[in-house]
Amino acid sequence: MSKVTYVARQIAEVLDAETALFDPEAKIQYLATDSRSLTDPARSLFFALEALRDGHEFAADAYQRGVRNFVFRARTHANKFAGANIFYVDDVRAALQKLAAFHRRSFNLETIAITGSNGKTIVKEWLYQLLVEDFNIVRSPKSFNSQIGVPLSVWQITPENDLAIFEAGVSKANEMTALANVVRPTIGVLTNIGDAHSEGFADNKEKLAEKLKLFKGVKCLIASPDYLQSPLPDDLAIENIFTWSMTRPADLRIMFSEPIEGRTYLRALYQEKEIECLLPFVDHGSVENGIICWATLLSMGYTPEVCDARLEKLSPIGMRLELKNGINQCSVIDDSYSADVSSLAIALDFMNLQNQHPRRTLILSDIPQSGKNDAELYVEVAALLHNKNVNRLIGIGPQISAFAEFFSMETAFFDSTEAFLEAFPGMHFSEETILVKGARRFGFERISKVLTQKVHDTVLEINLNALSANLQFYRSQLDSGTKIMAMVKAFSYGSGTFEIANLLQFNKADYLAVAYTDEGVALRKGGIKMPIMVMSPEFAAFEAIVQHRLEPELYSLEVLNNFLLFLGNRHKDYPVHLKLDTGMHRLGFDEKDINELKDILSKTDAIKVTSIFSHLVASDAAEHDGFSIKQIEAFNRISLDVLSVLDYMPLRHICNTSAIVRWPDAHFDMVRIGIGLYGFDAALAAGALQTVAVLKTTVTQVKTLQPGESVGYSRAGMMPDGGQIATVKIGYADGYSRAFGNGVGKMLVAGQLVPVVGSVCMDMCMLDVTGLKVSAGDTAIVFNDQHSISALAASIGTIPYEILTNISQRVKRVYFYE
Ligand SMILES: *Cc1c(COP(=O)(O)O)cnc(C)c1O
Repeated sequence: MSKVTYVARQIAEVLDAETALFDPEAKIQYLATDSRSLTDPARSLFFALEALRDGHEFAADAYQRGVRNFVFRARTHANKFAGANIFYVDDVRAALQKLAAFHRRSFNLETIAITGSNGKTIVKEWLYQLLVEDFNIVRSPKSFNSQIGVPLSVWQITPENDLAIFEAGVSKANEMTALANVVRPTIGVLTNIGDAHSEGFADNKEKLAEKLKLFKGVKCLIASPDYLQSPLPDDLAIENIFTWSMTRPADLRIMFSEPIEGRTYLRALYQEKEIECLLPFVDHGSVENGIICWATLLSMGYTPEVCDARLEKLSPIGMRLELKNGINQCSVIDDSYSADVSSLAIALDFMNLQNQHPRRTLILSDIPQSGKNDAELYVEVAALLHNKNVNRLIGIGPQISAFAEFFSMETAFFDSTEAFLEAFPGMHFSEETILVKGARRFGFERISKVLTQKVHDTVLEINLNALSANLQFYRSQLDSGTKIMAMVKAFSYGSGTFEIANLLQFNKADYLAVAYTDEGVALRKGGIKMPIMVMSPEFAAFEAIVQHRLEPELYSLEVLNNFLLFLGNRHKDYPVHLKLDTGMHRLGFDEKDINELKDILSKTDAIKVTSIFSHLVASDAAEHDGFSIKQIEAFNRISLDVLSVLDYMPLRHICNTSAIVRWPDAHFDMVRIGIGLYGFDAALAAGALQTVAVLKTTVTQVKTLQPGESVGYSRAGMMPDGGQIATVKIGYADGYSRAFGNGVGKMLVAGQLVPVVGSVCMDMCMLDVTGLKVSAGDTAIVFNDQHSISALAASIGTIPYEILTNISQRVKRVYFYE
């Protein structure tokens, strides 16, 4: 087997760690930082990273799943991990990097390192496509380019590799040197430098200087003087720079660039000769990334003719894993652009995270160019599928079919995509999750197409990475014991149901809360196991509440008494939550009821108070801070009073999203995060949270109007000068308010903000696209990170909450993971 194996005692030496070794000869092949994505637990070394509040919680999970090698910082864990090897270090992340750096140093191989603000992953994947016929390449999976992702990428190097391509990214100053030590590049590639990820830096100059640290000591750096600005610092000791530019003298000076029929023709001056190439893309970003690849190949000694022949065949990179609704209640995860073992592992983890159906089917093509012999490769794939709980494999291609007997689950094999599509009508797919993963040349997008329902032309795209990152942001604001209740009422603020709940469950939020019993029941039916609070537990729904082990919010003596009556003596310690009214005057026990409440609580053992809470009316508004302080004080006082009759300690909580940052002393035992998960927090500067939702629609028709003509009902949209209008497929029935009519609302079409003309209709509205090149089928963006929901909401005098939750259920949700 080509994977490098270390033994525990060696690792102790490399890490220079204090240890408690149960089995010094234990073999280690895999590094893990996440108990939810283990490949081979027995041979994994688990790093309990402190950046994640729950790193140690995950370590316990990992132990349960069979991991017996752990890197910890604190000395307190040994007794919980009997029979394990434990390595104690001062800094767990640094230890991971140190081990990867050691691994890297034992290989003497050409290593290309890529950094920049944009395009790192595309350039990495394209260099892989361009060079794979000449080298046995190891590369970063997906966009693994962080302080954790880089060492995990480097760890994959095996003796067979003769070229490595890794990307590295930094989000703040003083991060790159550590990555440079891990990667040890011999060739550097600098991609586009723009404004992305600038928050952690004083200015763009500091950001660039930080990025350049990756390239210390490389024999060649491929970069554009347009981004370098000033001469490189001497201490980088870069031997040679290969420059490219569209505007100034450079080793590769682009003289001419023109789009023709979906491709871009480029002519350049290189070594005093004119050379040319054709890139199969037209958008600016892709063309620039293509030029960077071109320059890299030339710098490596490829002839212009070979470059041209290979660049022409570049194919687009599917960076997203998309989750869509499929036929017969299936969920389809679409990753039809690539097939290699590490990205397969990531896609399978995503399938397990989105644990939407108990049955999991994988449609997988041959895995080309793995650098391993086929038998070895498919043994590894079979073990992976077994480990990740795949129930059914549909293998497509002659190679995977040849190793059919390796796979222990239900299987079917086809020689080609065409053969599968021919057999498709006779096959059964129903209520299962289907992962479609195929190498580019198999054209698996045809398979995704037959498996997914026709996507309605207006879609709400939900970025699950962004949602996790927002959760992580709030986690970083909390003390280590403070719990999180995630508010997923109203279809998770319009974003989905169990897709979001699955993600929150996976990320170990502690509680979920919904408004109504039905919502809770739907989550249970979708396989959500974590505790769920129901905020308006109507009397008629008590049966369903108990049946699905939902936890009611009790907010008055009447509801409390009714619930106790309902429980009778059939239950003991049924979990409930008590809501106190401290000023909202919506739901909650009034202070005058507290004595009676205490009296009832002290006499019953049918219920157990899981938590006691209240709600702030204006946590985000400085002008009401005096009132917030009063509420927090009242909550503290009254809740303690209630607790005095209990012989256990319920959780106490009062903070919603914007209170988390503004009222750090009021976190108590738990916080309730709602809108913040979806990227909005009035208490934070723009950019602190990530945009989760993008709403897109499609142009159905474009018309040219003469001066004096009008658009839509009641001639509301007068066009005195005439012009061009585009009709798009979104109206007030989709949740696009009529208030956006007559120029109030704007959408992004062809990169330009254009106004709505006339009234918004039920299913459509019209945009003024005069002067733009627009045609039917083009996309119109209703909101995204540039054209924000906050701005839209402000323009019609409402709040982001309403815009989000109004998006109707007929608008399809598509979830993706990058
Ligand atoms: C909706 C809700 C929240 C969440 O509020 P956000 O401002 O969205 O964070 C918290 N607590 C209660 C009781 C809620 O109803």
